Amino acid sequence: MYARFQPCRRNARRPRCGGFARMGGLGGMGGLFGGGRGGRRGSPLMRIGIAVVIALFALTTYYCSTQSNPMTGGSQRVGNITPDQEIAMGLQAVPGIVAQFDGISRDATSKSVVQGVGQRLLPAIAKVHAKTPEDNPYPFEFTLLDDDETVNAFALPGGQTFVTEALFREFTREDQLAAVMGHEMAHVIFRHGAERMARENLNGSLTMAATFAKGDMSGGAVAQMMLRLVSNGYSREQEAQADHWGLLYMAEAGYDPQGMIGLLEVLEKQDSGPSPPKYFSTHPRTPDRIEAIRELIARIDREGLNRVIESSSAALRK
Ligand SMILES: [Zn+2]
Repeated sequence: MYARFQPCRRNARRPRCGGFARMGGLGGMGGLFGGGRGGRRGSPLMRIGIAVVIALFALTTYYCSTQSNPMTGGSQRVGNITPDQEIAMGLQAVPGIVAQFDGISRDATSKSVVQGVGQRLLPAIAKVHAKTPEDNPYPFEFTLLDDDETVNAFALPGGQTFVTEALFREFTREDQLAAVMGHEMAHVIFRHGAERMARENLNGSLTMAATFAKGDMSGGAVAQMMLRLVSNGYSREQEAQADHWGLLYMAEAGYDPQGMIGLLEVLEKQDSGPSPPKYFSTHPRTPDRIEAIRELIARIDREGLNRVIESSSAALRK
């Protein structure tokens, strides 16, 4: 329902339609050509012809069709994946993921803290993007997992957000929790999972959304697929975007942005321990990441939150 076809525009940031020389994804197209083994049907020329047509179709779909993000208004390459599909995939993965992390926490007080922070962030997220909470297509849910060994937090496409007890216990202040949750919720709002799924589809290694749409996947398979998606980590650009907007979300919700630095410090302290935080395997503490967070906090102090939100939003719509 949010799909919108746009002809490719020529600008520096986007590969042009037909500009194959620049398409890094072409290497992954090997799979479409069948590897040259075992193909007995049709002439090699015909098979190559069909493969080229399929490849061109995939490339055209990926590079020429964009969707407007329902919350941010930015234009994104997410193939044909709709927010409704993201939500359905996320929900289907929940039981398998909960089981993998020892079930849902039985600590009622801590669970309500996690849910309270999530509920406080939701209206702030809508406000940051000049929307109402009703405009948000993602029905966020916040779950504290019972796992007290794996220090981790992640969100699935569609809004299912998880924090493990092992990470939760490290926090000394609520704004550290708000920092990690704001960051994960930004991955959902900015549809980073859908971007990755669309790109992997392009590379021929996965046909996630299509397979899912046909109902060919069990809940367990969806859970494994989603875990792989979130545990392989996002790109540097996506992580930077989640840091940036996660920080704006938490600041808008009235939390101290320093909580984001606090979060990294808390994790750093136990990095040398017997079980280093799993969170760091997907969220590396690169100096530029920390520097960018510090710079953004300084900018908020200097210019005020509203101006930083305005200029960040304007940059998104360029
Ligand atoms: Zn992240």
